[in-house]
Amino acid sequence: MTQKSYEEALKKWVRTWRDEHLSEDVRKLIKQANYDLFYGPINDGAVGDPAEEDEELAKYPGFTSACKQIRDAIDGLPSDLYIDTDSGEVRDSEPEAERCEACEGEGVVDGITCEECQGHGGFDPSGDWWHAERREIRACLLGTELVSYL
Ligand SMILES: [Zn+2]
Repeated sequence: MTQKSYEEALKKWVRTWRDEHLSEDVRKLIKQANYDLFYGPINDGAVGDPAEEDEELAKYPGFTSACKQIRDAIDGLPSDLYIDTDSGEVRDSEPEAERCEACEGEGVVDGITCEECQGHGGFDPSGDWWHAERREIRACLLGTELVSYL
C-alpha cells in the first residue's frame, strides 16, 4: 500500500529471520562490524582503541574476519522476498496468478472468450505485492554500509 508499510513488513520479517537463524555471536559481530565501520579500526592495538576498555570489543576478530563469519552465517538468507502489504504475508517466490476455474485457465469456453476472466485465464493474485531484492534484504539485516563490504 505505502512504502512505509512495505519497509515495516520487511523489517519485521528480517528481525524474525535473524532471531531464528543467527547465533548470539553472529548478531554481536554484526553490531561490532558496524561499529568498526563508523568508529574503527577497533582492536588493532592503536592508542585510544575502543577495544582497550571494552571486554566485548576485545574479542572482536577484526573487520575482514568478522565479514567472512557474517557472510557464512547469512548464506541461507533468501535473495528475493514478495511482501503483501495488505495482509502482511511474505513469500520467497513470486505469487502466481489465480487460475480461472470457469475456463480452467484456457481463457476460452467452447470457442468463446471466457467472461469470468476476460480471456486471461486467471486473475492477479489478491493483495498488494512488493518485491524486495537481495541487496535490500541484506541491507535491512546488516545496515546499508556494512552490506557493501560483504
Ligand atoms: Zn476464464
